[in-house]
Amino acid sequence: MISADTPVYQQYKDLKKQVPDAILFFRLGDFYEMFWEDAKWAAAILELSLTSRNQNAADPIPMAGVPFHAVEGYIQRLVEVGKKVAIAEQVGVIGTGAKKLIDRKIVRVITPGLSGDTTAAAHESAWLVSITQNRRGAAVGLLDASTGDLRVCQVEGLEAAVAEAGRHGPREALLTEESDTPAVRQALGGICVTVVKDRSVDIEALRQQVGVWSLDGLTSGLEAVQILLRYARENLRSDLSNVVSLHQYKLGNSLLMDESTRRNLELFRNLRGQGRAGTVLSLLDMAQTPMGGRLVREWLGAPLLDVEKIRERQGAVGRFVADTGARRALRAALAQVSDLERLAARVSQGTATPRNVNALRASLDQLPAVVEALSGEELRALLPDDLAADVADDIRAWLVPEPPISPTEGGLVPEGADPDLDRMRMRARDGKGEIARLETKLKNVSGIQSLKIKHITNMGYLIEVSLANKDRVPKDWILKQNLSNNYRYFTQELKEFEETILTADERSMAQEYKHFTALRLRVGEQVARIQVLARSVATLDALSTLAEVAVRHRFCCPSVDNSGELDIRAGRHPVVESLLADTPFVANDLKMDARAQFIVLTGPNMAGKSTLMRQVALIALLAQIGSFVPAAAARIGICDRICVRVGASDDLAHGQSTFMVEMSETASILQSATASSLVLLDEIGRGTSTYDGLSIAWAVAEDLHDRVRCRAIFATHYHELAALRETCARLRNMHVAISEQNDRLTFLRKLREGAASSSYGIQCARLAGLPLAVVRRAKTVLKEMELRRPRPEPTQLSLFGVAGAEIAPEAGTERAPEPRTEIAPEPPSPPPPDPVRLALAEIDPDQLSPREAHQALYRLRGMLEAAG
Ligand code: ATP
Repeated sequence: MISADTPVYQQYKDLKKQVPDAILFFRLGDFYEMFWEDAKWAAAILELSLTSRNQNAADPIPMAGVPFHAVEGYIQRLVEVGKKVAIAEQVGVIGTGAKKLIDRKIVRVITPGLSGDTTAAAHESAWLVSITQNRRGAAVGLLDASTGDLRVCQVEGLEAAVAEAGRHGPREALLTEESDTPAVRQALGGICVTVVKDRSVDIEALRQQVGVWSLDGLTSGLEAVQILLRYARENLRSDLSNVVSLHQYKLGNSLLMDESTRRNLELFRNLRGQGRAGTVLSLLDMAQTPMGGRLVREWLGAPLLDVEKIRERQGAVGRFVADTGARRALRAALAQVSDLERLAARVSQGTATPRNVNALRASLDQLPAVVEALSGEELRALLPDDLAADVADDIRAWLVPEPPISPTEGGLVPEGADPDLDRMRMRARDGKGEIARLETKLKNVSGIQSLKIKHITNMGYLIEVSLANKDRVPKDWILKQNLSNNYRYFTQELKEFEETILTADERSMAQEYKHFTALRLRVGEQVARIQVLARSVATLDALSTLAEVAVRHRFCCPSVDNSGELDIRAGRHPVVESLLADTPFVANDLKMDARAQFIVLTGPNMAGKSTLMRQVALIALLAQIGSFVPAAAARIGICDRICVRVGASDDLAHGQSTFMVEMSETASILQSATASSLVLLDEIGRGTSTYDGLSIAWAVAEDLHDRVRCRAIFATHYHELAALRETCARLRNMHVAISEQNDRLTFLRKLREGAASSSYGIQCARLAGLPLAVVRRAKTVLKEMELRRPRPEPTQLSLFGVAGAEIAPEAGTERAPEPRTEIAPEPPSPPPPDPVRLALAEIDPDQLSPREAHQALYRLRGMLEAAG
């Protein structure tokens, strides 16, 4: 009970002063209560009923509460909307009877970036990032306090630091004054940001926390790490004993993808909203343990570049694919393993409940079954020899198999562990038997057969007598409370019994609590060993998950190399395929090599161009995380970067129109792509006038082909781009086929050589339900426009070809016959090739010696002069 002038109120006020910017959850018995402004906020966000204490007083106290056993869900909802939550717990043993005020203290403040332990998304890491900048460069620090994962990456500048931070999808960021720029805030996309003033670095303390070697070579990164640890320590009220190492890493060890590529490929979030349905992650999210799930997610965001490392992972996945029995046994054993990383963190921070400690024990107990499921030495080597069985034994000796949630109310320690405790418990139990005997005696003495001895909170044991029997109560019974229907009494004898029972009860509970905290401390000291185990289990889980996905979705093992080529046989888009209910997915072959490095992909609307491009990117990406891929066979030359721009979207929040978003993404692709990159561009230049758009698309295609020389697929409705084939030697025209009969389109989804003749936009619009009258009128307008449009001279064709013309299959390529197809292949007159462009296109600068380059320049200049 709280009222404005009670000691509890004073205690609440004192605690609230420590956390003015957080909502204070104040533990009162089985509830966490919030008062005043906090109560109003929480009631609104959590949809709680707002009540009040002292309703009749001039200043009633608004109040709202949540039951203690459901608190995690409420905390999570508050941090999701960017609030901080402070938890004030009752500390020490709760006594019964009228007791002095119980001590309370703030045991942790949960901020969005420090909420990993409360989040429902167990398969997600909860990153708190720090971004610092100084004369020596910039750095990104990353901390998942719920698992103890601490990382740092030193980079050249702020832009790279923000991009790297963004890659991890952080929940909260810590910035210094230098790194707090509008651009950084915009790139962080509205997550909770705190600007940190205290930047002092305590190198000795850092060494003690993460070990001397972890800090080797760390210059600009020191501050980033220190800021993270200080913030987490202060808020979690923890010494972060679960953070025992620091992982320094460099950019460039993994395949690069920018945010828009991740978004366009729908790796983690779908394009429609923020959900996970239809994402690549949702397909791969079959891990049995939370840490395995987090690792799969991490692999998906950071595919490898090293062929050997990829092959190593493939080998392990392959073994699980081949041995169905072992895979099943392993997955069954893993299903019984809880979140070892987060449990160990809770234990070492002293916040683990008895059930948490028990879950840790049960998980450790499963590890021998995990080992048993591992066939072959290579897989066995993934788990350390030390399975921390001694830790499990210690827990088993001191904690019953099904303990209560609360550590303060007894029932934790098994019989036989501590003889003193057993005696105390016996006494308490005996005392309760005595109470029952006393009840019979009192019934006989008074003749009131309906009386009961009850334990009333805050009052102790009392004799309850109904109103009707009030007059039969003996004179020496002392009245304690009269209620509307009952009277409650006590006697001297009852009070003496109560003393004995309560003392024994209280003492035994205190003793159990002491044993539990000592156990928690001992287990907490083993956190480093448990973390090593947790990471090994995560690796096994992630590898067997990739195998499970491969089997379920009929993936094959790709060969990976540094050839710079791509050869996919019967490739599929795994997510689109899994979502197609009635129709089968049509698989396609695609080869990209020196003869076909740049593909201009045409085809009607809805034909499947975007799907095909995404599937190529996903197959490459999956191959580089060591996974099998959705194809019948595949050979993947490693990509250093995948850039995907598909479709158009406004970014009005950041003041960018559709066209500007498209152009800035394209600009960044042209700047960052290299010859080893895979670039997929869909409908570049659609957001402006036709000729402007076509010219931009043309120039971008030439630049990618001539200068960047990367593998690229360029999907477009500008069929004029097919003419690029005449001047770009490594360019290939392809289209996704349809058949048309009686004005009806059938999507064949098949990739064919050559360019398509039309987008069939009007037919597609009809399919989409555009009124027939509008469709007819559109056809008439189209005909008129085509008639009015002057037929360009052949020389003009290289830029603006005839609308509706299909480029014939290219020399040396075969075209399979298409039944009923009416894509009339009307060969256009090819533009006269520009000899200088052709000669330039044939030159591979990487293959030329300086002398040859010099000679080539002279030759080209000579050709230009000869052409006048
Ligand atoms: P637009 O030019 O209008 O953007 P598009 O050519 O890019 O269209 P997609 O968006 O790739 O077409 O595909 C449209 C739909 O066709 C997909 O949502 C999917 O349902 C289906 N589809 C695409 N490819 C295939 C395939 N290979 N097999 C079966 N269905 C497919």
